[in-house]
Amino acid sequence: MRTANILINQGALTHNLAQVNKIAPNSKVLAMVKANAYGHGVAMCLPALTDADAIGVATLAEAIQAKQLGWAKHTVLIEGVFSQAEWQTAINNHFMCVIHQQQQLDWALQNIPKHDCQTKTIWLKLNTGMNRLGFDQHSVIEAAKQLTQAGYQLILTSHFANADDKSTPLNEQQGTLFSKVFTQLQQQVDPNIKGSLCNSAAIINFPNWHFDWVRPGIMLYGSSPVVDKASDQLNLKPVMTLQAKIMAVHQLNTGEMVGYGSRWKAQRASRVGIVSIGYGDGYPRVVDNTAWVAVTDTTTQAGLHKAAIIGRVAMDMIVIDLTDLTASLGIDSIVTLWGAAPQIDEVAQSANTISYELLCRLTTRPTRKLHKT
Ligand SMILES: *Cc1c(COP(=O)(O)O)cnc(C)c1O
Repeated sequence: MRTANILINQGALTHNLAQVNKIAPNSKVLAMVKANAYGHGVAMCLPALTDADAIGVATLAEAIQAKQLGWAKHTVLIEGVFSQAEWQTAINNHFMCVIHQQQQLDWALQNIPKHDCQTKTIWLKLNTGMNRLGFDQHSVIEAAKQLTQAGYQLILTSHFANADDKSTPLNEQQGTLFSKVFTQLQQQVDPNIKGSLCNSAAIINFPNWHFDWVRPGIMLYGSSPVVDKASDQLNLKPVMTLQAKIMAVHQLNTGEMVGYGSRWKAQRASRVGIVSIGYGDGYPRVVDNTAWVAVTDTTTQAGLHKAAIIGRVAMDMIVIDLTDLTASLGIDSIVTLWGAAPQIDEVAQSANTISYELLCRLTTRPTRKLHKT
């Protein structure tokens, strides 16, 4: 059988969640599982996230899926609902919602859930400078007053635009504005209002702004959220390993070429391996010449043998250079595209993108399995 596998290590996920609790010990954790748990498969991830206080999803369909999979704690719709009908569905299912614009506010004021319904807690979004979602600092006060009068409990929330880079001045502006409005709301509207500002990068970079809830996403999956540190320096473990196998080996003469567009030309007698994975599985089609994979001897399972990706990544195959590797590596050797090594952050750099996108664009073709440890 053709081998292209996504292996999910639930122990690593639990470890990374514990890491968040260590860094933000006084905050509750909203574990972000939107986009099928960042491409990892939400069904395999939820059982490892039971220590989280809530999960965050982007769509109502994702929230319903998590419920059907047995998630029994809080679920937060981070974009809120898109119609009065969706608001009713959220109430029926006890989902918590972000409210970021007037229409959503109107629906919530027209249709108030019963007191014991979790939808009675609203995540009220303040725009602190990213200018995607949220009320401005003036209208948020009025919105908070109306919601509080209608009996809602509030969590003031906002999102950083540059949390991955500590030195960007907008971070300070956003954090300061959030703190100011948070204090105003506590003084003028409700002393029990809670706050939530930090995604993964901000959890690491801005410990003074953890507030009541943190919202880790990418760090749960073991990729580094910050520009200046690698995931192992942050004691994060990769949850996903993307693997395939060598399905053919060729000996090429100097001058022979490889793949579509004949982009790679042998500068010496070369041994190349054809690997059973491509962009049809979700490996990026465009990578620069720093892209590499780790080849493992199937029998000894030993060592990390680096092999460069050569030629164009195709839909179903990639080609790697085995010339400098031991001859025992060949057909059926296991090839790791990302995991412990290379780290997904390295692949993202070779592909001029971020780990988030590589994870989300995996297709349904690879086989998803639990990683046996
Ligand atoms: C996706 C998301 C997060 C998590 O971001 P990471 O960078 O993956 O930690 C947090 N908050 C909101 C509102 C989000 O949409």
